[in-house]
Amino acid sequence: MHCPFCAAEDTKVIDSRLVAEGDQVRRRRECLSCAERFTTYEVAELVMPRVIKQDGSREPFNEDKLRAGFTRALEKRPVSVEDIEAVINKIKNALRATGEREVKSLVLGELVMDNLKKLDKVAYVRFASVYRSFEDLSEFKDAIEDLQAEPGDDSAG
Ligand SMILES: [Zn+2]
Repeated sequence: MHCPFCAAEDTKVIDSRLVAEGDQVRRRRECLSCAERFTTYEVAELVMPRVIKQDGSREPFNEDKLRAGFTRALEKRPVSVEDIEAVINKIKNALRATGEREVKSLVLGELVMDNLKKLDKVAYVRFASVYRSFEDLSEFKDAIEDLQAEPGDDSAG
């Protein structure tokens, strides 16, 4: 790339390392012309698929909305912000991994439910009751029974 100081065309990479847990490459470059040094960051451009809503309309994937949903569901639960961020990344990766340009909101919903269930069962049921319309009542009952069968969890309520 061009030198940002003198606009010379040739710069050389003098150091290259992985940052952001391997999601970015940080490069130190030196201009062959003026010898100024500068840093560039390289990230993969992975496009998130758009979400097809129940009514057939499309909307962009909204990470903030997803985060707000998790935060709300996990309010007062013993789950760290780091764990929530990890799950959001996992969901984003799963969506990208589909390679699809559009995914049904149902697919996203299932990903959310699966991950929330692993994170915190109380929050899962709380979230499920508002976010997802269960196929039938027995499915919801099963979820509650799963929850009650969990030994040692006296933190509910
Ligand atoms: Zn230069």
